[in-house]
Amino acid sequence: MKRQNVRKLILIISLLLFPVTIYYFSPAIIIMGALEGIINGSFCVFALMLIGSIFFGRLFCSYLCPMGGLQECTGLINNKTPKLGSRNRIKYVIWVIWMVAVILSFILRKSPLKLDFFYLTDHGISIANIYSYIIYYGIICLVLVPAIIGGKRAFCHYICWMAPFMVIGNRIGRKCRIKRVKLIGDKDLCVGCKQCDKKCPMGIEVSEKVQNHDMHDDECILCGECIDGCPKKAIRYDFK
Ligand code: SF4
Ligand code: SF4
Repeated sequence: MKRQNVRKLILIISLLLFPVTIYYFSPAIIIMGALEGIINGSFCVFALMLIGSIFFGRLFCSYLCPMGGLQECTGLINNKTPKLGSRNRIKYVIWVIWMVAVILSFILRKSPLKLDFFYLTDHGISIANIYSYIIYYGIICLVLVPAIIGGKRAFCHYICWMAPFMVIGNRIGRKCRIKRVKLIGDKDLCVGCKQCDKKCPMGIEVSEKVQNHDMHDDECILCGECIDGCPKKAIRYDFK
């Protein structure tokens, strides 16, 4: 099976499991736990995202994220690519406000810290009662509406509260020159057809990056669409 088909299949499986896993990605559940002094599943998942992205960049976004899977489906409705611009900074504003709320909640907690990975779940399952569906469909709408109006991965571009963790981790990996997954472009093989630009769901001008010999971009989710779309095989993954 082709790489992009495998990637999309994994994303769709992750989307199907979203009713089970949603509380482990929840920006609200981490605050609720923090107020009670509980380090819960979402805290651990976000910490793992930060550490993992030092070595794997934003591979989680392109290969594992259930919300990525949902946006692959909305591509059937609106397939245009949002342009990179100042609106991409909205997610950082959301992230900073949220982080302040999480830190304050831990500071103001009334109980000593303890670990409960399955906090508020039923035997590890997030959506186990009728009220949880309100949260579930709320999050689905939060992803669905921007993607239908704004196009490919609009939620990742403008809203995602998880992306900044991975942008920070990716930058740490790059700054410390740690062995990590990244893209490499070969300027000599490139014929400037710009197929990679058309394929990129994150609106990155990939061909320009190939010419500049620097493939790094905070918005790159390492999906490999540019690699598989390049007729000259001028782009590849690297782990050095
Ligand atoms: S698709 Fe390949 S050959 Fe075409 S512009 Fe991009 S890197 Fe160059
Ligand atoms: S630059 Fe390539 S790997 Fe990165 S998001 Fe765009 S298409 Fe995917």
